[in-house]
Amino acid sequence: MAVTSFLDIRNLEFKGKRVFLRLDLNVPLKDGKVIDDNRIQAALPTLRFLVEAGAKVIVASHLGRPKTEEDREKLSLEPVAHCLNQAGFEVLLMDSPDSEAPYELTKSLDDHQIILLENLRFAPGETKNSGELAAKWAKYTDIYVNDAFGACHRAHASIDAIAKLIPTRCYGFLIEKELKSLQEIKDHPKKPFYILTGGSKVSDKIPLLESFAEKMDGVLIGGAMAYTFLKADGLSVGSSKVEEEFVSVAKKFLHRMRTSDKKVFLPVDHKVVKDFSSDDFTTTDGATIQEGFIALDIGPKTIKLYTEAIKDAGSVFWNGPMGVYERKVFAEGSVAMAKAMAETSAFTVIGGGDSAAAAIDSGYADKVDHISTGGGASLEFIQGIKLPGLEALKVRQPDPVEERD
Ligand code: ADP
Ligand code: MG
Repeated sequence: MAVTSFLDIRNLEFKGKRVFLRLDLNVPLKDGKVIDDNRIQAALPTLRFLVEAGAKVIVASHLGRPKTEEDREKLSLEPVAHCLNQAGFEVLLMDSPDSEAPYELTKSLDDHQIILLENLRFAPGETKNSGELAAKWAKYTDIYVNDAFGACHRAHASIDAIAKLIPTRCYGFLIEKELKSLQEIKDHPKKPFYILTGGSKVSDKIPLLESFAEKMDGVLIGGAMAYTFLKADGLSVGSSKVEEEFVSVAKKFLHRMRTSDKKVFLPVDHKVVKDFSSDDFTTTDGATIQEGFIALDIGPKTIKLYTEAIKDAGSVFWNGPMGVYERKVFAEGSVAMAKAMAETSAFTVIGGGDSAAAAIDSGYADKVDHISTGGGASLEFIQGIKLPGLEALKVRQPDPVEERD
């Protein structure tokens, strides 16, 4: 009986083949320059592998959310092309994502030349998963490779529709690396397994927490969401951010954890201000926050408590910063957690756009086992939600034939 599974990029013959390579080159720009090239760096191993294997590579990526005509200039992949040039490729940037030029260009591409389609989202069919748009790409594609992990939770034309048109399809080395680490957290996290969570909203994180309620041994909560939980525990939180409609959800979750002997860590002190925009903070003595004060980061006692817990863990998954990490004075909690993640012997994974950014800013990123390049995609994956981008890559493969005597 045939089974559906993935083809291995290492087993495919790429020489002379036209490869449509979907990458996630959605990098932050400022004044027309790439200010953080992590995603470009993460994409290079697969790109290099394909070029060295003799493929004619057509690279495709989205960038931001273009809406107006003006955005066409602001969100052009030109600065990304510049970075790829610096990485040793001669980049031919097409003027539109649905350009038909690659059809001819691939016939005469030199060894180190690659084609880069302009921002996929300039084509309205991309986010609509248009079969028509995908068919245009399929016309000049022999093999489809997806290495855009951060976009795999979206059924867009370059992720889903095109994959279904190209029988020879697989994922690249970045997705392979992501799956290896995330699968370990999803399927057999080493115990004790803790989730460290923060960020802005309980409503965003509760599905993750609920889905791991059985599997995890404890939860450590920080960030703005901590105040909804502290309120649920009956503490006064001053003027800190609270999602009133989630207080009862938080209460139920805490009860569920505590009655099943799981550990719950909530902040025991905070850095507070009187005015959100002020950096002039004081540190509370305990967990209670006085009227008129807003908590913007966890305090030193909490840092110590959480660091100890992370030190004793078998594995830790972190999603959501501990404070308003964009402002240096309130990044301390997140920096300390990144340090704890780097120094523990536990298996450590970070998923989430802001948590990853906070960890990278902290300087401890290279000692964390895995920092996912896909915020939403990593959270959905570990919760067991099927990612359209991965599903579309599966192919029917015959069972291996058993050898006979
Ligand atoms: P991630 O992208 O890692 O999933 P989120 O997007 O959920 O994280 O949350 C990140 C945001 O949470 C940041 O912009 C940060 O400023 C905000 N945040 C963290 N702690 C607080 C706080 N105490 N008060 C207000 N905002 C906070
Ligand atoms: Mg975020």
